[in-house]
Amino acid sequence: MSRDQHIPRKRFGQNFLHDRGIVERIIRGINPRAGDQIIEIGPGQGALTYPLLQSIGAMRAIEIDRDLIPRLRAHSPRYGQLEVIEADVLRVDFTALAAGTPIRLVGNLPYNISTPILFHALEHASAIRDMHFMLQKEVVDRMAASHGSKDYGRLTVMLQAKVQVEPLFLVPPGSFTPAPKVDSAIVRLIPLAPEQIAPHDSQRLDELVRAAFSQRRKTLRNALSGVISAEQLQSAGIDPGLRAEQVPVADYLRLAALPV
Ligand code: SAM
Repeated sequence: MSRDQHIPRKRFGQNFLHDRGIVERIIRGINPRAGDQIIEIGPGQGALTYPLLQSIGAMRAIEIDRDLIPRLRAHSPRYGQLEVIEADVLRVDFTALAAGTPIRLVGNLPYNISTPILFHALEHASAIRDMHFMLQKEVVDRMAASHGSKDYGRLTVMLQAKVQVEPLFLVPPGSFTPAPKVDSAIVRLIPLAPEQIAPHDSQRLDELVRAAFSQRRKTLRNALSGVISAEQLQSAGIDPGLRAEQVPVADYLRLAALPV
């Protein structure tokens, strides 16, 4: 091991991509164009950063591990202009970074905090043009699930209420160092335009969906008692005898539009 070799840190979810074929497929999936405002979450050792820089010339990246940053800053100039933001992505204000021009978020995400990152990005959906993320396959299955499936849950509803979810391809554990214990997948997320989203109260949606899925084996009548009445469910055309996973996203939005 060379002296400056970085030892991957588990606490930062570091599984570095080394498979060039996969890197190329990810870059093709992103389809970067000159002028795109790309922001990478967790550039690590630059596996995605350098090819992206080569194709668009300039971009920004957010990295929490300060030990990785000097090397990124030293190596990047031969590919393009990289601005490294040393920060915890969960504290980054994407809307401020966009400064009026929607950003393209990309990243092989740290799996230990992938769900909080997704929810954080959702809060800034109007400042985001699209997102291309590597995640655990199991998480992508949940994001893309249809109602009626066992993978359909809170993550599905909250995401699909605001973004279009498009799984792209699978990535095996052997593509990373160290190899994670799980399969991974690339997913594309495209925020819906405001006119594509049925009017609703976001806080109410959050409350309803949390309650419904916290007891997913109960009927809505029981899981939502105290949150919404069986009569209100019926008035919205929703059978109170259904379970949370049987209810389409559009119906949750409709419930979240009812007066409380
Ligand atoms: N992009 C590199 C690759 O594909 O090889 C590294 C991916 S690795 C799975 C995740 C990266 O996210 C690491 O570089 C890690 O240090 C960084 N990271 C972890 N937690 C972070 C956080 N809260 N904010 C910003 N970066 C973070």
